[in-house]
Amino acid sequence: MLEREGVAAQASRLSAGLVRTHYSNAPEARLALAGLKWFENWAELVGGEVPFWRTGLLNPVAREDHDKLRRNVAMLQAVGVETELIGPEEMVELEPAIHAKEDDLAAYEPRSGYADPGATTHAVAGAARRLGVEIAEGVEVTRILVEGDRVTGVETPARRVAAPAVVLANGAWSVPLARAVGVEIPIESVGVRLAFVRRPPDLRPGWGGHAVVLDRAHGAYTRPEGADHSLLGLSGARVPLTAPDRYDSEARPDAEFEQLARSQLALRFPSFAEAPVVAHRSGPIDITPDLCAIIDRVQPEGLYLAVGMSGSGFKKGPAIGQCVAEMVLHGESRTVPIPEFRLSRFAENDLIRGDVYSGPFNLVH
Ligand SMILES: Cc1cc2nc3c(=O)[nH]c(=O)nc-3n(C[C@H](O)[C@H](O)[C@H](O)COP(=O)(O)OP(=O)(O)OC[C@H]3O[C@@H](n4cnc5c(N)ncnc54)[C@H](O)[C@@H]3O)c2cc1C
Repeated sequence: MLEREGVAAQASRLSAGLVRTHYSNAPEARLALAGLKWFENWAELVGGEVPFWRTGLLNPVAREDHDKLRRNVAMLQAVGVETELIGPEEMVELEPAIHAKEDDLAAYEPRSGYADPGATTHAVAGAARRLGVEIAEGVEVTRILVEGDRVTGVETPARRVAAPAVVLANGAWSVPLARAVGVEIPIESVGVRLAFVRRPPDLRPGWGGHAVVLDRAHGAYTRPEGADHSLLGLSGARVPLTAPDRYDSEARPDAEFEQLARSQLALRFPSFAEAPVVAHRSGPIDITPDLCAIIDRVQPEGLYLAVGMSGSGFKKGPAIGQCVAEMVLHGESRTVPIPEFRLSRFAENDLIRGDVYSGPFNLVH
């Protein structure tokens, strides 16, 4: 594996690390469920300390989305996701600090939670090294080498590396490399911002102190961060970037973002309104026109794509890695069917469509 900087240098370190299976389309839900199984069986499949906190996920939606939620929960159950509809009393039972109206409706997933994104990525890299994978850090791929209609390797500033198969798994940075061999990848770079606040006293302390809440009605999400803090984000509030590396300068969280994140979350947890912000960060995501990943084998022969994760690739990462490995070794993915994620869907106008919720900033499936 060739990595321009170091393991977990970019999105996979900066991620919010939510591990959920609630999606509004079946293909993504299947991948997320396959990813969840890795987090649940970490010690056996990866080894070492488990970086996953199973807090449960609450996914409340706006009144006008109740029918969508009912349809999506039925779709998810058919896919194998453990989820149920709950009303305000159960919401308050799970999270006593929550503000729930009489007619509120949420999906609840007991198996979901969050993971430490950097630790997760380093653990996977460590397990790969133990199995004999060579990870060369500080080595940038500058060109994909092709002979005839086949990939033969890649070029780096220092040398050429011969390879019968090349997997591009480098987010928006893949676009110019692919374009140089005739593959057009429709990815835009955007920045995503997060704020970290001191956890209000009416929420339980601890790493697993409160559930992950993805509040579709108000476009905000939260999860615990350490024992005494909570992470806040706005689903889909994204800042376009002129280049994928420019998130720090072009999408730096400002006071306006922090205030908006707190006030949107306070509509669900009123005590977050005054929670002091202690830190913030932003990171790059690589979005496609339907906000779903591209996982495919393309021409020239031997070129594979695992890009365009669209701000939702952390939880699915282990499963996507497994699918790509199966494509390379066996010619097709066996863990999860992935034809919906093919690159050609954009030209064919056959995008992955979900029963997407309406709330503010809701650009996530
Ligand atoms: C703030 C934020 C919050 C998020 N929240 C969530 C969430 O809650 N749940 C979730 O599932 N997902 C979330 N995501 C999305 C998720 O983190 C990403 O989809 C995922 O980490 C992408 O992994 P990746 O390996 O494709 O990209 P990256 O982790 O960005 O890795 C790409 C790597 O490629 C390297 N690279 C680039 N160009 C080259 C080159 N030419 N040669 C060699 N190496 C190169 C880079 O250095 C980088 O390390 C979030 C993302 C952000 C930024």
